[in-house]
Parts: sequence; structure tokens; C-alpha cells
Amino acid sequence: MKLHKVTKVIDFCYGHRLLKYDGKCKNLHGHNGVLEIDISSNKLDDRGMVMDFGDIKGIVKSWIDENLDHKMILSVDDPMVEALQSYNEPLYIMDVNPTAENIVKYIYEIILALGITPLELRLWETPSSYASYSEG
Ligand SMILES: [Zn+2]
Repeated sequence: MKLHKVTKVIDFCYGHRLLKYDGKCKNLHGHNGVLEIDISSNKLDDRGMVMDFGDIKGIVKSWIDENLDHKMILSVDDPMVEALQSYNEPLYIMDVNPTAENIVKYIYEIILALGITPLELRLWETPSSYASYSEG
């Protein structure tokens, strides 16, 4: 089958720490995250596009900027939540451990709810490590 695919790349900064984990990511720290959004279609619209890059950026980057960019992403079970909230630190609370795997799946579901069906999302946590999520 022939398939057109476009990829939009969105950068954002976030902090997190992982619970139940013994490694560098167990303490509060930050990442320069890079989100890659693949969107595919077997046919192009009357403009010759899968989807306008500007539309993808407008929809997804607005949500990321408002909710995740420069926020500390923590598990609801993290005792640090209460401490940071008392200092009015900007947090984003997840029901699960904020691993790259969980964050990328969460963003996938948000993007679906915003009306875009991605083929795959990849969240690069470092220049050599990414987690991806797709629905088969
Ligand atoms: Zn980390």
C-alpha cells in the first residue's frame, strides 16, 4: 500500500523524576524533549497535503506550551508534589510514573482528543534515547 507520511517536530523543556527507579532519573532534573509527530494518509487533500504543518504545530504546540513546557511532570504518588505546590512551582501531575514511555502515550491520547490521529509519536528524552507510541 502506498502511504504518505509527514512528521512535525516540536521542542519543549520539562522536568521530572521517576519513582521506583534507581538511576540518574530518580532525582528532580530536566530534559530538552523533542516530540516527533508522524501523520499518514493514503491520499492527499485537494491542496496536496496529508495535513498542513502549520495546523499540526498550532494544535499540538499550543497544548504542549500551555501544559508541559517548563513544567515539572510528577506522579500523583510523588511526595514532592505537595512540597513543590507549596512554593507555587508549575507542575503537571500524571496518574503514572512520568517515564518517557508514559509521557509519550499520554501526549498521544491528548492529540487524539484534539482531533489529530497520529501514526506514531516519538519523544526524544535525550539525543540518543526516545520512547514511541502508536496504536496498531
Ligand atoms: Zn529524566
